[in-house]
Amino acid sequence: MASHETSLQRYLEQERARLHGTLSTMGVHGHYSVSLELERVAMMSHFASQLVQIDHALRKLKSGSYGVCEVCQGSINPARLQAFPRATACIACQRRLEQHLDRH
Ligand SMILES: [Zn+2]
Repeated sequence: MASHETSLQRYLEQERARLHGTLSTMGVHGHYSVSLELERVAMMSHFASQLVQIDHALRKLKSGSYGVCEVCQGSINPARLQAFPRATACIACQRRLEQHLDRH
C-alpha cells in the first residue's frame, strides 16, 4: 500500500473513532426535551451517515477500488478526494445524488 493510502486510511480511522466517541456521548442524555431530542437525533443521524461513508471508503481502500465513482465507475478527481476523503462518487454524480435528496 502506498504511503499516501496509509495516511488516508489512518485519517479515516481517526475520523471513525472520533465519530464513534461523539455518538456514544450523545447516547447519554440528562433531562429530556423534545426540541433537544430532535436536534440530538438529527445530529446522530448526520454522524451515523458519516460513519457509514467512512467505513465504506475504508473498505474500498482495502479492496483497491478507492477513488472510483460508484455511480458512473469513472475516476474521482484527486483534488476532490483530498478535500473530501470519504467521497465514493465523483462531483457530477454526487451533485445529482444531493439534488435528488433535496427534493425529499
Ligand atoms: Zn460519477
